[in-house]
Amino acid sequence: MSNPFVFVGENVALDFVNTEIMVRNQPRDLLASPADLHVWKSAAQVYHPELSTINFDDPVFQQAITLRGAIRRILKSVIKAESPPSSDMEILNHILAAGHLHLEATGVGQFSQRYIGKENGLLTLATVTATLLTQYDLSRLHQCKNERCILMFYDTTKSGTRRWCTPDCQNRARSIEHYQKRRGD
Ligand SMILES: [Zn+2]
Repeated sequence: MSNPFVFVGENVALDFVNTEIMVRNQPRDLLASPADLHVWKSAAQVYHPELSTINFDDPVFQQAITLRGAIRRILKSVIKAESPPSSDMEILNHILAAGHLHLEATGVGQFSQRYIGKENGLLTLATVTATLLTQYDLSRLHQCKNERCILMFYDTTKSGTRRWCTPDCQNRARSIEHYQKRRGD
């Protein structure tokens, strides 16, 4: 099934935020309805198996959009080395409050912990965001260097030198730069 979504974030929280894109310099929201969220989930679980067990109930659609905005602003604050807006932290914490830490014995002398709770899709998105913020190297979190692009990604390259969402975006940015330089001459 073809869909408009992009999966370049290397992280489910980032790919969720990346459902807002720029098309010809205009912002476009790819999640316009609860149906879009279902399509995104089906497409996203191929890249992020942690989504395969969840379902987004239609009534949580608006909350999902609110959560997406909060995650974007928190991640942007990280990229800009600023403090995150406390109202956005509250949005995340409010959703996380619907779950709890669950400890499991996985073998003799072996345990694992999971965060579980009443799942309507939002809890998983909030949990993966919390994991990203606390257990990842946030110096590898970037917004695409193309100034006309708003996609975010986690750089998983060995060299840690990824700066663009896709090679296409890099090429577009370079040709715009080239054009502007030529016009300036
Ligand atoms: Zn880009």
